[in-house]
Amino acid sequence: MTKIQMTTPLVEMDGDEMTRILWKLIKENLLEPYIDLKTEYYDLGLENRDKTDDQVTIDSANATIKYGVAVKCATITPNQARVEEYNLKKMYKSPNGTIRSILDGTVFRAPIMVKGIEPCVRNWEKPITLARHAYGDVYKNVEIKVPGAGKAELVFTAADGSEVRETIHEFDGAGILQGVHNTDKSIESFAKSCFEYALDSKMDLWFATKDTVSKTYDGHFREIFDSIYEKEYKAKFEETGIEYFYTLIDDAVARVMKSKGGFIWACKNYDGDVMSDMVSSAFGSLAMMTSVLVSPAGIYEYEAAHGTVQKHYYKYLKGEATSTNPVATIFAWTGALRKRGELDGISELCAFADKLEKATLTTIESGRMTGDLVLITSLENAQKLGTEEFILAIRDELDTMVG
Ligand code: NAP
Ligand code: MG
Repeated sequence: MTKIQMTTPLVEMDGDEMTRILWKLIKENLLEPYIDLKTEYYDLGLENRDKTDDQVTIDSANATIKYGVAVKCATITPNQARVEEYNLKKMYKSPNGTIRSILDGTVFRAPIMVKGIEPCVRNWEKPITLARHAYGDVYKNVEIKVPGAGKAELVFTAADGSEVRETIHEFDGAGILQGVHNTDKSIESFAKSCFEYALDSKMDLWFATKDTVSKTYDGHFREIFDSIYEKEYKAKFEETGIEYFYTLIDDAVARVMKSKGGFIWACKNYDGDVMSDMVSSAFGSLAMMTSVLVSPAGIYEYEAAHGTVQKHYYKYLKGEATSTNPVATIFAWTGALRKRGELDGISELCAFADKLEKATLTTIESGRMTGDLVLITSLENAQKLGTEEFILAIRDELDTMVG
């Protein structure tokens, strides 16, 4: 069998613990036998991040800017326990945070739907992709506990020394205060990433805030979205046959619950935090959720939405049997390979990505799946397979499809 040839390398970001084990199994069994895999490899495993003083993370993000597409394995974000466990020089920042700040992107999360794992919401027939703005608002707040009576003011001092001043509240007793901000630059990037992703995936885009109450703050999000849409995207959306629409956040929530799915829901930071957990758990499982970082310049980084599955890794290290779900990591690879195929005009690569996804879903639909899915499936003949066993079952399916 001749292997599919690639022209441009994918940026490959290896990671930690159980997902690092999955990574190797996926490459060896599901990719390398079929593709002459061309990657530029960066080892983002915690040991190598420590060895390189985290330079490897920065290098991998810069390589992503150079080549345009990356695939990333889950990585440990160190806390104090990890600093001791790995004897780290320091408590490094989250690699995802570092990469996101270099690429300046928005994260899109979408559930992988398969027969036998039904969403809790009966009418959801297609996936709902959630786009969460990842900068500012309450996540970069300043708070004060007001001890007693007094006047609270909002003051902006411009670079030239001039002031804008508004009274927030005249307190006659104790209370609380909070200051939040965002920047036009960040909101504009968020908007552009959403419009780009909608065009790319040919799905409608919904955006919602509370601009009836927060007329200036949330109103500005709406103004920026509307004006970028009118200027840069309206014609392209009409040509593609997709729609952008704005509504109030409470109306959006009601519509989402009644919808059939199949659209992108763009949310402000807090709304996205809350709603992504609701949407992902209603669709079934974190292990069936993909995640892609899209920069406003149209650069893509694919990964699974879950972490390194530490508990399973410790079992694996003790030689115990594991049943870790590789589906989201497989779909990170297929997403990246398909995008590479599209950019480089290699249709076999796109077709292979489709087949590998189909082989994965067919395996689950035949009743062979990992333990996390056995617990929630509606299939009656479900059989729990081990980590490697499940990947080999997918390989059998793939071999019949590839011929
Ligand atoms: P986690 O790795 O997502 O796992 C939490 C639990 O969810 C697991 O113990 C497991 O439950 C279940 N689970 C998650 N993915 C699964 C899969 N593929 N197959 C089967 N079960 C799965 O979260 P964590 O244990 O809280 O975090 C571990 C490390 O991951 C941390 O160091 C954190 O910093 C890192 N992390 C990285 C990313 C990223 O790189 N994007 C994201 C989140 C967390 P059971 O044990 O009940 O089977
Ligand atoms: Mg959350």
